[in-house]
Amino acid sequence: MRIGLFGGTFNPIHLGHLRAAVEVREGFELDEVFLIPAALPPHKRPGEVVAAADRLHMLNLALEDISGLEVSDVELNRSGPSYTIDTVHHFKAKLPDKTRLHLIMGLDAFLEINTWKSYEELLAQIPLIVINRPKAGSSLDEGPWKIMDEYITSKLSADYAYSPARSCYLAKHKQPVYVFEVTALDISSTRIRRQINQGRSIEYLVPQKVAKFIRSKGIYL
Ligand code: ATP
Ligand code: MG
Repeated sequence: MRIGLFGGTFNPIHLGHLRAAVEVREGFELDEVFLIPAALPPHKRPGEVVAAADRLHMLNLALEDISGLEVSDVELNRSGPSYTIDTVHHFKAKLPDKTRLHLIMGLDAFLEINTWKSYEELLAQIPLIVINRPKAGSSLDEGPWKIMDEYITSKLSADYAYSPARSCYLAKHKQPVYVFEVTALDISSTRIRRQINQGRSIEYLVPQKVAKFIRSKGIYL
């Protein structure tokens, strides 16, 4: 089995997350991608994050009719803030030994990975798939994104070298870090929360069931 782990706040889930997950699943021939909402995101102020149960519910609504994408509540069931390294250990312990795990994240998230708990162990434990987000970089046809190139070699390890044939960075004692372009959808949860707060529509930025739930519960107002 080939599995993708895609973590985030999902506050709320939107079509940018969903389209990216679908394209990575196809591109890397993954059997399943788990979307994993974080409990207390270490990098976000608690005040602007709605109840975990609501974020989880919206994820479940969003994935109801899609196969190959699943929700995992593992981080919500753990006490304290969510650390990706703990989640990776959880899946490694739970799944059969020959399962191939991949960690999926946007370039914006990757560019902060040196602040994550045990990030060096993380890079040694699991291959990463770093997806582009609009405005963050340029086309992969001209090589990997420049900002990524500078960051990975200066902040993570000078050992990393890009392999054009495999579209990934390779380094000794580290798992590959793949770069992958997905359809650029300039959608963020921040913008959705702001639009709701301003009384503007969020239709077609999130699945319709999610828009309906947000409206009926009156969250993010
Ligand atoms: P916020 O604005 O609150 O930070 P967000 O839209 O960035 O929300 P997160 O839950 O922070 O969503 O992101 C989870 C993961 O999804 C991150 O790795 C992020 O880079 C990625 N991601 C978010 N939006 C997109 C998008 N439009 N296209 C591709 N990846 C995305
Ligand atoms: Mg974000």
